Amino acid sequence: MARIDLDNIRHAYMANPAGDEDYALKKVHHTFVDGGAYALLGPSGCGKTTLLNIISGLLRPSEGQILFDKRDVTDLPTEARNIAQVFQFPVVYDTMTVYDNLAFPLRNRGVAEDVVDKRVREIITMIGLEERARRKAQGLTADEKQKISLGRGLARADVNAILFDEPLTVIDPHMKWELRTQLKELHRRFGYTMVYVTHDQTEALTFADNVVVMYEGEIVQIGTPEELFERPRHTFVGYFIGSPGMNLLPAAVDGAMVRIGSQTLKLPGRAGALDAGRVELGIRPEFVRLGREGMPVSITKVEDIGRKKIVRAELEGETIAAVIDEDTEVPAEPHVVFDPARLNLYANSWRVELERGA
Ligand code: ADP
Ligand code: MG
Repeated sequence: MARIDLDNIRHAYMANPAGDEDYALKKVHHTFVDGGAYALLGPSGCGKTTLLNIISGLLRPSEGQILFDKRDVTDLPTEARNIAQVFQFPVVYDTMTVYDNLAFPLRNRGVAEDVVDKRVREIITMIGLEERARRKAQGLTADEKQKISLGRGLARADVNAILFDEPLTVIDPHMKWELRTQLKELHRRFGYTMVYVTHDQTEALTFADNVVVMYEGEIVQIGTPEELFERPRHTFVGYFIGSPGMNLLPAAVDGAMVRIGSQTLKLPGRAGALDAGRVELGIRPEFVRLGREGMPVSITKVEDIGRKKIVRAELEGETIAAVIDEDTEVPAEPHVVFDPARLNLYANSWRVELERGA
């Protein structure tokens, strides 16, 4: 396994890129540590596959370098990088049996047949295809074929990294959970460097200790699930992580005081001088309390989601969401209070670090 450095990577698919908007990757400067399990999370089109293909060598970046254990591999082809990559849709040899498909990457490297056999049996059990072992891949379902692709990606133990590009898209929901758990377990046992691409926050948060959030060709935050939840660095992270996402309200700030419409609140610290621009107050729906005191709101909708309710309301002309316990009454004259410790301030979409104790 290897440490992977992405050194000031930029990539444009077009020949003569002019502005930032012409780049699929605007600037990516990041290290995947040896043995780390990462989820690369972001909406469709934000550059996840582009980044993965740059790591594996399917794509050469327009600018920047890729280093494996400090060695420059930018100009090395995929074969020379010793990477296993699992794509979104199955890539299998139809005329080979399931067993031979899984044995292929090992035999290809001259691994002894008894070692191949042991490993292939292990993997076949893991992906639940024992009964199909001797069947040709041809004629299997898309779901079964994708399990073969996944298994092939895991066959070799000596790769620099394993890259997964939304590998569970065609897998049925129950098996998804099962396979994800097994991938996590494999990481724990063997310490592979793994990068797992997904647009699904649940998948990302359950798979990885480190979630890399991408937005419009940039990494906007790298953090644990808790950090992404509690201190989103960018409004996009606030909005994308969580269900519903973070409330963001246009605000004006003066030191430790923040104004939203006619309401003034105290921040958990002072904001330094902000450049002119858009200022927003962020508060997660989980930290909005509904009661008889606080800021008056009008309720527009209440959704029952099991043990909780999502309340949608209007506050100072803005729509906000609150998540409350199912047995909490919605009062006749509703008001909301924001947990002061949970307030986040954003200037031009980026989080402002507040000076605590001020
Ligand atoms: P993701 O995997 O996050 O959905 P991609 O990396 O596939 O995103 O795409 C990032 C951006 O690059 C998108 O705007 C997409 O349209 C563009 N793009 C991807 N592949 C190509 C290509 N081969 N040629 C031109 N543009 C591409
Ligand atoms: Mg993609």
